[in-house]
Amino acid sequence: MQKAIIITAPSGAGKTTLVKKLLQERSDLAFSVSACTRHKRENEVEGKDYYFITPQQFQQKIKEGAFAEWEEVYENMYYGTLMSEIERIWADNKTVIFDIDVKGALSLKKKLGSKALAVFIAPPSVKVLKSRLENRGTENQQTLQKRVDKALYEMKYKEAMDTFVINDNLEEAFQQLSIKVDAFIHLDE
Ligand code: 5GP
Repeated sequence: MQKAIIITAPSGAGKTTLVKKLLQERSDLAFSVSACTRHKRENEVEGKDYYFITPQQFQQKIKEGAFAEWEEVYENMYYGTLMSEIERIWADNKTVIFDIDVKGALSLKKKLGSKALAVFIAPPSVKVLKSRLENRGTENQQTLQKRVDKALYEMKYKEAMDTFVINDNLEEAFQQLSIKVDAFIHLDE
């Protein structure tokens, strides 16, 4: 059966690390590479982390109906899930895993219904979340404050997902997430 795991969280809750760990451990999962208009960070790889495209190319893809969902996640920064990624992964008989923002997660959950498990990764506290964003070193003072404000608002989406995991200790959070993912993948077998 075609299945999907949607991992969502406020920025800085550690969801990307958890998604990467899941992908390392499970060869039955494949990552849906999103398209986005922000600049590539130093450690990122084109086509692996994202398809980095221009705002014009992004608008063109919207027109073509290429996205399953898309959001302006930050001001003038667009991110979108490509239908072609979902189809490619399902054709390969794998479960697709998404790392996306809360609004995109809700849209995908509505679209995919029982095919998808939507997991909210919650930070243990706002203080921890702020220091994680600072330590990541990818933000300046202005973008940091923006991301913190957004994270506070995004916490409200926790109840809208199927389940949640609190990321206090990475190993424990990973164990909890693995159990949930495994149970979902083997459901109906
Ligand atoms: P970052 O710029 O830190 O890589 O990502 C910013 C936010 O955009 C994260 O919450 C990330 O999960 C989210 N994101 C990444 N890809 C997509 C996508 O295709 N759609 C939506 N709605 N959000 C995305």
